[in-house]
Amino acid sequence: MSQKKLTVVLSQAQGKDPVRRAIEEEIAAALLMEPGVDLGIVPALYDLHQGHTGRLYLEGIQGDMVVISWLYPRAAYWLLDRDGIQGQLGETNIKPAEDNDDDEETEEVAKPKGIGAVKFKDRLIYCLDLRDAKDHRVYVNEVRRILGECRKRWDASGENSKPAIVQLGMNISNPASSSNVVNGINFPKEEMLKVPGRRWYPVIDYSRCTNCMECLDFCLFGVYGVDSLERIYVDNQDSCKKGCPACSRVCPEQAIMFPDYKSPAIAGAPVGAISGLKIDLTKLFGGGDALVLAAKERDKELVRDGRDAVGLSVGIPKRQSDKKDSPKDDLDNLMDSLDTLEI
Ligand code: SF4
Ligand code: SF4
Repeated sequence: MSQKKLTVVLSQAQGKDPVRRAIEEEIAAALLMEPGVDLGIVPALYDLHQGHTGRLYLEGIQGDMVVISWLYPRAAYWLLDRDGIQGQLGETNIKPAEDNDDDEETEEVAKPKGIGAVKFKDRLIYCLDLRDAKDHRVYVNEVRRILGECRKRWDASGENSKPAIVQLGMNISNPASSSNVVNGINFPKEEMLKVPGRRWYPVIDYSRCTNCMECLDFCLFGVYGVDSLERIYVDNQDSCKKGCPACSRVCPEQAIMFPDYKSPAIAGAPVGAISGLKIDLTKLFGGGDALVLAAKERDKELVRDGRDAVGLSVGIPKRQSDKKDSPKDDLDNLMDSLDTLEI
């Protein structure tokens, strides 16, 4: 009999949408009763700042885990990686609706050639997107399938015969003993679920990022930095300008995501499969016109800060050097229509 448990973290939606809250509650109610599962509930992942109890709870989890959130799996995985919550991405059976349509042509996607994560902990992180199915049983069944998969691995590696790891953080699967202990400090349950303020910052997908530093040159607000391994990273997350996705259009590898942006392409949808839209993603993110749009977005923020607009004169990659500012064009219209797309 397996002793080890699978940790499932349910990340709530921002705001108070009753439809979203309802499915979260259905999933939580089902998983609270699920043998072999430890369930933790935290506010929206993207907003969890350093020191938030929900973030400390995530940091304290050892071993395999499932993260269920309102984010694209790619965005959730790399956002956790940036926060030091690392592992290998587990493969899930839940796919976006359009991926299940056999008649739909799937766009050929080039294999990413990025520099990869700094280190992978020897554990799996499965990321499930709550927008992929309306029925909570889809998620509960997937957690059961993942638990079965993990148990086979634990049996094979002998992990089940080791003493159970005591998780740091609240274990709401056993409310009677939930002392909200995090790193030896007691936190009241309300702290775990305390809703943090909204945040806005880029998330880098290192499976795509080639460390070209174009984002570092482009951003004039000090968001990006270079770490001790000379790798690009998002250094000052909260210096980013709310609502602006400019640098995601500059990245030639489509590696920069803004998980809260309305356009799926920029929010972290699988590259090459955006809600059945047949668009040239390379152009959308990194082509010539996209850079014009990015420069306009950046200028808007510079002026808002009382600084001078710089247009295309600073931090624009060489591939754009012959481009001049242009009036609103087809790409702007495309971006506008993507921005209004419901996801
Ligand atoms: S969106 Fe703008 S402010 Fe934020 S990181 Fe990108 S370029 Fe910098
Ligand atoms: S522009 Fe894109 S590929 Fe280049 S360093 Fe930045 S995130 Fe990486």
